[in-house]
Amino acid sequence: MRGEKWAVDLTEQLLTLAVVDSTTNSFQTSSDIVLLDNHGRAINYLRLAVTDRCNLRCHYCMPEHGLNWLSRSDLLSYEEMTRLCTVLVRLGITKVRITGGEPFVRKDLMRFLHMLSELERLQEITLTTNGVTTAPLVPELKKLGIRSVNLSLDTLDRERFFQITRRDDLPRVMQTLDALLNHDIAVKINAVVMEGQNTDDLIPLAQLTRRLPVDVRFIEEMPFNGGDHTTAVRPLWDHRHILDTLRAEWPELEKIPDPPFSTSMNYRLPEHLGKVGIIAAWSRTFCGTCNRIRVTPEGALKTCLYDHGVLQIRDLMRQGLDDEALAAHLLDAFNRRHKTGWEAEEARRGLPVGESMATIGG
Ligand code: SAM
Ligand code: SF4
Repeated sequence: MRGEKWAVDLTEQLLTLAVVDSTTNSFQTSSDIVLLDNHGRAINYLRLAVTDRCNLRCHYCMPEHGLNWLSRSDLLSYEEMTRLCTVLVRLGITKVRITGGEPFVRKDLMRFLHMLSELERLQEITLTTNGVTTAPLVPELKKLGIRSVNLSLDTLDRERFFQITRRDDLPRVMQTLDALLNHDIAVKINAVVMEGQNTDDLIPLAQLTRRLPVDVRFIEEMPFNGGDHTTAVRPLWDHRHILDTLRAEWPELEKIPDPPFSTSMNYRLPEHLGKVGIIAAWSRTFCGTCNRIRVTPEGALKTCLYDHGVLQIRDLMRQGLDDEALAAHLLDAFNRRHKTGWEAEEARRGLPVGESMATIGG
């Protein structure tokens, strides 16, 4: 097949692809391909932000009035995103997470998910959602083969939920949690830990793992809230503080092995059905095994959460580049990847900031 041939050609040209099965030199399926960056790290996971818009206004993500929303023509179309995913899957991406903004506020998202689900070699599609409008769509997600969803939930208290998100939507999020579990879709709950806001929720959230088969992951707050920021200040609730707090409540908290490429440090409580994780998003303890790339809603490639955007894919596509040329640009960017988030941040020093996780694709 034509796609397989250019994959081999680019391997020879850029030394970015490695063949796992070197005896057959086979590119028959994408699982045979390992896409490596210039530091020898595998890249197999794309986080694709389909919109910057959202129906919540979480303090840590965006201001009350929202962001300077992108216009529709600024966004990658579903056709452009499908084409990009097709090229990336041929290069070795096996998993795509749909995120945003809130992915379900983009019109016809289900149409796009159907298009993606038809990509033969894509092994896994997942979603990150705030769950406000997701519950009625869960049966269709299940039919599409979606096996796991990340659900953002920073508190179990309705008043605090309102303070954090500026919307009174906790009951709808809980309906989504129920619907996902009832449909046997694996759930990871994401909770950003913020001094003065939800630290009283740490224990109740972790306690969810007692009866529910969910992973509850506590995330260090990053300064990507749509305002001017600096990442120089370590959050008070860093991974150590979070762990100390959990251990003070449960000395029996047991460290368990982290799956390959995991960004979370994982723990378990005896006889609990679920697990507890801590994501050191600010401290960046996971760069050494980082397997992920991001594409922003306006089609910029980020090979690190902390970089400034290293390739304007949308513009290249709209200039009429064919798939081979597009793949060559992508591989070149993977070959220039920063080694750590610290290095990426240093490289963008002096450039304007003001990013939100909704435009980065959390
Ligand atoms: N709207 C969806 C949601 O909230 O799940 C998807 C997009 S949201 C940007 C993705 C994840 O980023 C959420 O779990 C959210 O908690 C996290 N996030 C947003 N801003 C953050 C920040 N400043 N620091 C750490 N995590 C953040
Ligand atoms: Fe919206 Fe998600 Fe950002 Fe909250 S974290 S404002 S739900 S995009």
